[in-house]
Amino acid sequence: MDIVYRYDPYKPMTPRLLEDADAAIDNLRRGHERYSTIVTQVHRELAGDGSPGRVVIPADPLTLGLPPWSGSPPVQTPFALVLGCSDARVPIERIFDQSPNDLFVIRVAGNVLGVECLGSIDYAVSQLAESLKLVVVLGHSTCGAVSAAVDSYLAPRDYASIAFTHALRSLIDRIQVAVRGAATALERVAGVDVSRHPGYRGALVEAAVYLNAAITAYDVRREVERLVAGAGAGGTGPRVVHGVFDLVRQRVAARPPAAEGDGDGGPTGPVLAEVPAGPDEFAALGTEIARIIADRRLAPADDADRPG
Ligand SMILES: [Zn+2]
Repeated sequence: MDIVYRYDPYKPMTPRLLEDADAAIDNLRRGHERYSTIVTQVHRELAGDGSPGRVVIPADPLTLGLPPWSGSPPVQTPFALVLGCSDARVPIERIFDQSPNDLFVIRVAGNVLGVECLGSIDYAVSQLAESLKLVVVLGHSTCGAVSAAVDSYLAPRDYASIAFTHALRSLIDRIQVAVRGAATALERVAGVDVSRHPGYRGALVEAAVYLNAAITAYDVRREVERLVAGAGAGGTGPRVVHGVFDLVRQRVAARPPAAEGDGDGGPTGPVLAEVPAGPDEFAALGTEIARIIADRRLAPADDADRPG
């Protein structure tokens, strides 16, 4: 397939400042659809199905990260901040098909919220307030940091060998709340014996990935609220949302896929979700996520025994 970047000097350049969080979410959603179109086309051609495709991506000085006139640096105007994992398989700008100067990206293993990460968020929210409309916390499936946190939860005696340095331990400890929440939710929907199911570890990692993104987003939102209140200028600051990039489907969604391989037809739910308001909404989110995952991964041999 051909991917063509085309610059037409006679076409007007699109203004980069977005109006609000809805416009920012829509921009990310459309960019992700463009990315998904390319991925789907490559999958088709790999399978020998369909004729070679061609995708034309409009380019101009702004989408290349250049200033509209030469001789000065561009002004930094990201419309969204994305806190994602360092994982090499999750290139943030590419999966949302965004240009230089569109996203303020923070990547740290497990997308956890350490002090330096909070400092970067503080900087963006206070210094880039004019353009920044949205904060996204993006987890991803089969995350190594979340998997390590799950393993330390399941086998505390082996914990030292899983995380043998202070730095690695502090990273994994930050994910434990999500792991415990995921374990509780899986017990709630699949029974107390769920941990004996051969698919339990995989289910726990998957549920913890989704909850970890939501919990981090909750903490980020509190930080944003604190900053905005401290500035005393009114307004609410950027909206905070969360989602997970599924490495198999190459899709971002706020809920796990209902079936294996689900996704060719589009996301199963909203691409990005609002942050739960408090403990009750977190419990409901945990139950919803655990139910989807348990139905797919933890089906008992005798279906009649499956809790509703
Ligand atoms: Zn990761």
